[in-house]
Amino acid sequence: MIVPGSTATAPLHLKAQVVIVGSGAGGSIVAERLARAGKDVLVLEAGPFVPAAKMNQRERDMMRLLYWEAGMRATENGSMGVLHGRGLGGSTVVNYLDCFRTPPRLLEHWVHTRGLPELTPEKMAPRFDHIFEVLHVRKLEESGLNPNNRKLMEGSRALGWSGDTFHRNANNCYGSGFCDLGCAYNAKQSAAITFIPLAMAAGARVYTEVRVDRVTLEAGRAVGVEGWALDAERRPIQPVTVRADRVVVAGGAIETPHLLLRSAVPDPSGQLGRNLHLHPGAPVVGHFPGERIANYEGVKQGYYVGEFSWPLHGHDDDFLLEGIGAPPGIAATVFSGQGASRQATFKHLNEYAVVGVLLRDHDTGTVTAGEGRPKIDYSLSEADALRMKAAVVAAARSMLAAGARVALTAHGEAQILRSEADFDKVWSRSLTAGQMAMFSFHQMGTARMGDRRDRDVVNPEGQLWSVPGLHVADASLFPEASGVNPQVTVYGLADVVGEAIATS
Ligand SMILES: Cc1cc2nc3c(=O)[nH]c(=O)nc-3n(C[C@H](O)[C@H](O)[C@H](O)COP(=O)(O)OP(=O)(O)OC[C@H]3O[C@@H](n4cnc5c(N)ncnc54)[C@H](O)[C@@H]3O)c2cc1C
Repeated sequence: MIVPGSTATAPLHLKAQVVIVGSGAGGSIVAERLARAGKDVLVLEAGPFVPAAKMNQRERDMMRLLYWEAGMRATENGSMGVLHGRGLGGSTVVNYLDCFRTPPRLLEHWVHTRGLPELTPEKMAPRFDHIFEVLHVRKLEESGLNPNNRKLMEGSRALGWSGDTFHRNANNCYGSGFCDLGCAYNAKQSAAITFIPLAMAAGARVYTEVRVDRVTLEAGRAVGVEGWALDAERRPIQPVTVRADRVVVAGGAIETPHLLLRSAVPDPSGQLGRNLHLHPGAPVVGHFPGERIANYEGVKQGYYVGEFSWPLHGHDDDFLLEGIGAPPGIAATVFSGQGASRQATFKHLNEYAVVGVLLRDHDTGTVTAGEGRPKIDYSLSEADALRMKAAVVAAARSMLAAGARVALTAHGEAQILRSEADFDKVWSRSLTAGQMAMFSFHQMGTARMGDRRDRDVVNPEGQLWSVPGLHVADASLFPEASGVNPQVTVYGLADVVGEAIATS
């Protein structure tokens, strides 16, 4: 049974062997593994459980229900929107379903540079097999590509770049195109309908609308958590205290360091909240006059170009290009212009194909504990900005190769690119705060895993070096950005942590 905190009429005092904070990719798989191992598991999730029948596909309602800060979260300098899911299943409920097994090159790199012998491709393979099975991951057929993703495929093939259709965790998806507002058809195999029900079937208890504000420490050991049951408006209504032998924090790479910093947990590495990777993303548009692309219809993300990725192909530019649909509301926040020029842009909305650039950021930002909410400090470094420009140029090139009349960038004043000769407009413009619309769909690295207590926040088993009983199991663990869409890597790393707890 799922117990909503909003129904609490008295303080909640709970006990468990293991309490897990957060029910997204990381929290859900740990809950499943530990419950299956016979542990008494309690999952606490700040957001609500939103069943498919209540997902009404309206941005106004769903953004508020399913995202932290209603989807308006951003870096302190306002240069990047930071999208993070909130609710049973976490970001897996609002994500675009792309599934990459962590590339072997990256796993080997982490094994050797971070001292993580459990992460060899051979040892991770059975975990990924299990994850793919539970999430019902299948490769998208080319026939399933919408016109938008097809343009990226055609353009990149004409240029001789390697790419492929995505593997996706979908079951009977007919391409409604509303993935980021939750799947009203239960086709998306999110954690809320896969690992969480499996955990519950094995005995785990799940409380939603319970926000954890502090990890409780006694004599240097984690002994539970404290927080509040929330009403439907997210106001605290009843205090919640939990006593547990183990605490697993799986709130995502923004909320996890925020919680641990507020709890003043000892951190000999001094790295908690640092090393924030955001996978900066930006749209590039191709205009195909007279063609109906309707990029927001059908399977939103279907095709990617891996040619320039370091984890996939050893390329130093280190970015992916991915087809992505932008519903009119999002498009309105990306396109510049006023009055007649804006009208002209929107008149042609259905003729636009959109490519999303996904940069594997090599430099990082920080999360600190702000007034009630986490403070995210992040600016593109010069080196990352240079690679971002290379990515924008490549995206534009793919659209022109596919036959676009022009490619448009998301700079404050959109750059109109008609041919190679125009690419200087991208190279010569600064990418400092606010110069180009950028978004982060993937946050990683703020409690990184590794074998050195002076460098890494948690040890190779996911436990904080100086706090017995306190573990991290989410995207915070990443030693670096994954460079590919990260959900499967999150499930995989969290499973390593879950197994270590189960067997210790
Ligand atoms: C719009 C969008 C699209 C994406 N598309 C893809 C994609 O196609 N492929 C892919 O691989 N990845 C994608 N991702 C990213 C992927 O979903 C995440 O990387 C992954 O879910 C992260 O797992 P996690 O466990 O770290 O955090 P999450 O899955 O975000 O789960 C964290 C949970 O913890 C809860 N929580 C946080 N703090 C507290 C607290 N104090 N008390 C109680 N609960 C708390 C949160 O509410 C949340 O439910 C996308 C993300 C977004 C936002």
